[in-house]
Amino acid sequence: MEVQEIVIVGGGICGLAMALGLHRKGVKSLVLERSESLRASGTTIILRANGWRALDYLGVSSGLRNRGLLLSGLREIQVDTNKVSERPLGKGEARCLRRSDLIEALAEELPEGTIRFGSRVLSVTADPTDKSHMLQLSNGKVLKARVLIGCDGVNSVLLNYLCMNPIRVTKTSSIRGLTSYPDGHPFGNHFLMTKRGEITLGTIPVSDNLVYWFLLHNWTSKDDEISKDQELIKIHGLKYIEGFPEKVVEMVKNSDPSTLYNKQFKYRAPWEIFLSSCRKGTATVSGDALHAMTPFNGQGGAASLEDAVVLARALAARIIAGGVGSHISTSKYEEALAAYVKERRMRVLSLCTLSYTLNTLREGPSMAVRLLCTLLMTVFFKDRLAHSSFDCGSL
Ligand SMILES: Cc1cc2nc3c(=O)[nH]c(=O)nc-3n(C[C@H](O)[C@H](O)[C@H](O)COP(=O)(O)OP(=O)(O)OC[C@H]3O[C@@H](n4cnc5c(N)ncnc54)[C@H](O)[C@@H]3O)c2cc1C
Repeated sequence: MEVQEIVIVGGGICGLAMALGLHRKGVKSLVLERSESLRASGTTIILRANGWRALDYLGVSSGLRNRGLLLSGLREIQVDTNKVSERPLGKGEARCLRRSDLIEALAEELPEGTIRFGSRVLSVTADPTDKSHMLQLSNGKVLKARVLIGCDGVNSVLLNYLCMNPIRVTKTSSIRGLTSYPDGHPFGNHFLMTKRGEITLGTIPVSDNLVYWFLLHNWTSKDDEISKDQELIKIHGLKYIEGFPEKVVEMVKNSDPSTLYNKQFKYRAPWEIFLSSCRKGTATVSGDALHAMTPFNGQGGAASLEDAVVLARALAARIIAGGVGSHISTSKYEEALAAYVKERRMRVLSLCTLSYTLNTLREGPSMAVRLLCTLLMTVFFKDRLAHSSFDCGSL
């Protein structure tokens, strides 16, 4: 049976960043990715200052900065009243990147053989003899890992193993897409929100010729069928924005159908972060598996990058202290993972609480619940953008 020291399940943003963080410190890991090649689910991602800082520490930010236009602020338009307001996007830089650019930049820096594609993990069990973890793979093989890190997203195969609750689904969903403008787009470098009632259309320039947009709406029973057909998604989206300004309607009309998605948001309830141990011996989870959050505060991906830096640092510190290449005791690994959970718990609790509150404000079942959320926002999140100043510390 194959035995590996550090195994990361999932080669998305978090898993690749985790492997890269370890590699930068001279520590080898193996990433098991179920897809046959690099996979960038979703279209784009906005990274604020904290996300860029984590990428700086991982040593991949400079090339990526040229791939995303520096956003200058948020402009909001109310369709019914024509009221326009502007506000900042948080302290420091904010840029929108194609997910594939980010994923490729992380993967390119990894030594050959770090990512094993076509490796779907079906289940995990404990090996009671030496406290390691047995991974059942879809190709019938079993792999043994001394340290196991689940970066396998919202349906993580580790959740059951760690006795953590599954990720939940919201009523709110979004249609997302990309529109190309070969001769330049008319949106400048503003994040534009066009609103009418419960419908919000967000427009975010990625470059001078590419715009990402998302359309927030409430999921209905019809959406299950619509989501399977990208042309239908577009027709459905256009119905929501009838009467919106012409330039945003044209943007949706001219979007590339192959980039269109219609999905419900997923989240972890904040109290679960508080109550769960988030770890079992030398196994833990990071990224969406730990803290899936609605994208209202645009922090899920950035928080995943922070997780990667913090966990890589905690592991590498113990490994380097013991001498790279020498045997590291299970208790040293446990100590590293415990330090990671301790360091991340309050940070992700705060981010999940903010995104949960923002979502409840939108979906709020009653006026009383909405009032409670407003109170929570006033007391704990007066500065909604403060989280983008966070510094997870260097590797
Ligand atoms: C609509 C929307 C907009 C968002 N916008 C932003 C934003 O603007 N800014 C931001 O910071 N965040 C944003 N987020 C959040 C961000 O996308 C996620 O937090 C981030 O992608 C999480 O990365 P991850 O690596 O943890 O998970 P994923 O990206 O889901 O990657 C998981 C990986 O694991 C693999 N995998 C899964 N199961 C297995 C298995 N059993 N075996 C092997 N491999 C497996 C998958 O193939 C995948 O490659 C948004 C999310 C949504 C839904």
